[in-house]
Amino acid sequence: MDNSIAPALYIVPTPIGNLEDITFRAVRVLKQCDIIACEDSRTASKLLKLLEIEPKLLISYFEHNERARAGELVDKIQSGKSVALISEAGTPIISDPGWAVVREAIARNIQIVSLPGASAFLTAIVASGIAADKFAFFGFPPHKKGRKTFLQKVVDLDMTSVMYESPYRIHKLLDELHDIATADRQICLARELTKIYEEFIRGSIAEVKEIIKNKSNFKGEFVVILEGKK
Ligand code: SAM
Repeated sequence: MDNSIAPALYIVPTPIGNLEDITFRAVRVLKQCDIIACEDSRTASKLLKLLEIEPKLLISYFEHNERARAGELVDKIQSGKSVALISEAGTPIISDPGWAVVREAIARNIQIVSLPGASAFLTAIVASGIAADKFAFFGFPPHKKGRKTFLQKVVDLDMTSVMYESPYRIHKLLDELHDIATADRQICLARELTKIYEEFIRGSIAEVKEIIKNKSNFKGEFVVILEGKK
């Protein structure tokens, strides 16, 4: 049986916690491709081992050298190799590196095969109870410079907003949103999605702020879903 796949750039989502959340197709592509391009080869090796996938070749592409790496990876595809792009978790490019590789592949007329799969924002929004018919994804709010303007833009939007936030800044974010939005605006914090301690905290900004008030060592990463301005 020929186990090879056509030379192309494959964008392959990986689980965001629960290892079962990977598709049959993703596993096959990762097994058959010539090169797996990952953020960090040590974390990728761990994941691939758990999934019982033996990579033919792992190449790490860091955010800082992504541009240079993009050219090299696309060279490999042009020389007949199949390259699967993965990130630490979820879908590459979504608040993760990989965009430069996709741009370079498009510029050189290389086929891109995008596999559907896990992403934290989609998993969160559909269970939030907040309207998902129209929404904007903002990724991580800036830590310092431009944060105020960024959050004001989010709060002023007349559709649902989705953001990513770390456990260290979640209280600060709630305080800031409480200051600039009406306190009855609905919000949902989704944390530890697909993991043992998965939790959805839903309510008005004031209610959710109160619920998390005494949880100082909140573990896990967050997806924050904010109702749009009425
Ligand atoms: N590429 C990923 C995706 O498709 O969702 C996102 C990568 S980004 C570097 C990591 C952020 O995604 C975390 O800080 C958190 O906000 C969110 N995230 C990832 N996994 C999550 C999970 N299991 N539960 C809640 N949020 C998660």
